[in-house]
Amino acid sequence: MKLLSCRETTRLVSQGLDRELDRGERVALRVHFLYCLGCRRASRQMAFLRRAVRMLPEPREESS
Ligand SMILES: [Zn+2]
Repeated sequence: MKLLSCRETTRLVSQGLDRELDRGERVALRVHFLYCLGCRRASRQMAFLRRAVRMLPEPREESS
């Protein structure tokens, strides 16, 4: 199994907000989180921000 760098981890976490990660990707993330507190925090923050953004009202399309 390959270990992710912090950069790869961040990329996967943000992709995971938009699509379903496959099993290997999820495992790799978990393993990284086991030894990297920074990414664990960052991923929680990303998920939080994403939810916060979703709660904002949709910007209206200007059609005229
Ligand atoms: Zn990391």
